Amino acid sequence: MKAEIAILGGGPGGYVAALRAAQLGAQVVLIEENRIGGVCLNVGCIPTKALLRSAEVYRTLRRAGEFGLRVEGPVTPDWSAIQARKERVVEQLVHGVEVLLRKAGVQVIQGRGRFTAPKTLTVTTPEGGRSVEAEHVVIATGSRPIHLPLPGFTPAAESGQAPAGVLDSSGALALAELPRRLLIVGGGVIGVEFAALFHAFGVEVTIVEMLSRLLPPMDADLGQALAWTLGQRGVEILLDSRVSRLDAVTDGWQATVITPHGERRITTDRVLVAVGRRPNVEDLGLEAAGVHVTRTGIPVNAGMQTNVPGIYAIGDVTGGIQLAHVASLGGEVAVENALGRTAKLDPKTVPSCVYTDPEIASVGLTEAQAQEAGYDLRVGRFPLNANGKALTYGETEGFVKIVSEGRFGEVLGLHIVAPHASDLIHEGGLALALEATIDEIAATVHGHPTLGEAVREAALAVRGEALHLPRKAAQKG
Ligand code: FAD
Repeated sequence: MKAEIAILGGGPGGYVAALRAAQLGAQVVLIEENRIGGVCLNVGCIPTKALLRSAEVYRTLRRAGEFGLRVEGPVTPDWSAIQARKERVVEQLVHGVEVLLRKAGVQVIQGRGRFTAPKTLTVTTPEGGRSVEAEHVVIATGSRPIHLPLPGFTPAAESGQAPAGVLDSSGALALAELPRRLLIVGGGVIGVEFAALFHAFGVEVTIVEMLSRLLPPMDADLGQALAWTLGQRGVEILLDSRVSRLDAVTDGWQATVITPHGERRITTDRVLVAVGRRPNVEDLGLEAAGVHVTRTGIPVNAGMQTNVPGIYAIGDVTGGIQLAHVASLGGEVAVENALGRTAKLDPKTVPSCVYTDPEIASVGLTEAQAQEAGYDLRVGRFPLNANGKALTYGETEGFVKIVSEGRFGEVLGLHIVAPHASDLIHEGGLALALEATIDEIAATVHGHPTLGEAVREAALAVRGEALHLPRKAAQKG
């Protein structure tokens, strides 16, 4: 069959590319070997957030008395019902996307695709092989978890199965029962979200992170705030530490952990490995297409073009920022370019969100990055305990931090620890897109009472003029 655009992989990169291409009038074929929605909808963003929402409701219910509510009898988590709800959310969303694709006229082929020539793909379907010839191809095959190449962690050669005690993120999402103890290797976004989730349901959680803080790429204050919160709640966090091996013992698994204070043996029921993801570039016939590939993925330019004209790559497979919204934006950019428009992916306004409790969100430069870039820096910070809406929520842990430059007050970065931080962060993205200043944020009227007022106050705090802070604290910024 022939198509104007063929897309390999139906995750948030591929399916959004398909919808946009169809919207622009192209004849589109989307090839997906598993379920539409990819990692994000099936085993990533959506199921984790559905489970985290149950954790949040549970935590709130346990504090019901604070809000003047009496709950008769204990509130207890029913893990299988929580899992069932998560599945319903995933099903609804996947089904919704399938309907959207159908209504847009996208032809979906269920099967595994690979290049046999630069613009020809062969798809192995349950019914046999199909060939697709396309004017443009978008590679959106995503990524998979990295295994730890350490004794006790490596998958069996014959089955490819990891040892029974070892989980990756998909395994953790599918757990039939809550473990009593969980060791998480990796204090990045995925590791800390699972730590918050399982700990909320009473699991004893230990995080082992090789670097000196949680959420290493984000502004240092965010990782520190999270470590404090999780630590207060009882999560054990071992920084500057690494797991060196895992052994089966009578009552579970014993991890050997090298910490700055010496070696420790930690017995646990399960170990979740969350140390990153590698691009799916194998067995795609990239050689037949002449597509260049490196150890980190398929290199592309800002227009998502690979080294072969007419072949694009988007999302996790490019080895760029591994976020669903980056994959989707890449998809829009790729098909717009394929269809004769000129589009670029500008990472400047890409937010990073962490759905712990409180949430964490960040956009633009961290304080350290701005310093390194040589800016004459000004930082404004506003604590959440001085914000009226946060008080009404009973959620006063957190802060808003604005990083700006001194001459014009241009906003360089916004960093938030707060309930709904992931919804608040886009004011920062817009400020970066418009090269707005702290004065423009301050001149924008923010509704009252809202958490957004804390963003305005942080902008005022850059010049020591926050209104809802005692004078001395305000002047310190
Ligand atoms: P994928 O989602 O990996 O999709 C690729 C698709 O291609 C898959 O469906 C696969 O089956 C298919 N495929 C691969 N090879 C072939 C082939 N040869 N033929 C046919 N089909 C093929 N990101 C966020 O932005 N926010 C979050 O909250 C968030 N939470 C996450 C939580 C977890 C636990 C994980 C693991 C990830 C999370 N992410 C989150 C990251 C996000 O899921 C990914 O960045 C995103 O899914 C990448 O999209 P993609 O389209 O590039 O690839």
